[in-house]
Amino acid sequence: MSSTSPTIGVLALQGDVREHVAALQSGGARAVTVRRAGELEAVDGLVLPGGESTTIDRLLRVFELREALRARIAEGLPVYGSCAGMILLAERVLDGAVGQETLGGIDMTVRRNAFGRQVDSWEEDLRLPGITDDGPGVDAVFIRAPWVEEAGPDVQVLARLSAGPAAGRIVAVRQGALLATSFHPEITGDDRVHRHFVAMVRQRG
Ligand code: GLN
Repeated sequence: MSSTSPTIGVLALQGDVREHVAALQSGGARAVTVRRAGELEAVDGLVLPGGESTTIDRLLRVFELREALRARIAEGLPVYGSCAGMILLAERVLDGAVGQETLGGIDMTVRRNAFGRQVDSWEEDLRLPGITDDGPGVDAVFIRAPWVEEAGPDVQVLARLSAGPAAGRIVAVRQGALLATSFHPEITGDDRVHRHFVAMVRQRG
């Protein structure tokens, strides 16, 4: 892999794929879409987009990608999941659909659609260590988002909400090469979270 522009895939089965491709390119990666196992083999890192985790879970099986992806995660592939992607990286899900499974990798329990029907979306300025140290907070947009209900000892908590009905809830985590946020930096035009992920991919390479 090139040390300057790693190739990072965006799982392109469902969800806001184009936004992640644009944010990755802006963040210094060569971004490609991934729908097949052969495409997965060619990437140095992968983004699991926001969308609907139950649909992505089902399509991972239909496209016969689920086991290949689980194997690459186990080998240490850097993966960033936003919103539905965070759910897919969780070992455990509360309020999942019947039969819903995840890929796992991060020792955490997430609550799906956690903000409830009254608060489908939420926005907050968030500080993220290593990402907002030298600048303003990230405009974190939550859309029918999960939160992290419980995180294991090896999970690094990057951010908690500071205000509103979900104050104190964990919304950004990292464990090893896996990064997950409840929110959608890809829709804000701020590429710092993606730039940080690109740096994680470079470090591993
Ligand atoms: N509620 C969705 C799910 O369960 C996630 C929403 C999102 O990605 N914006 O997967």
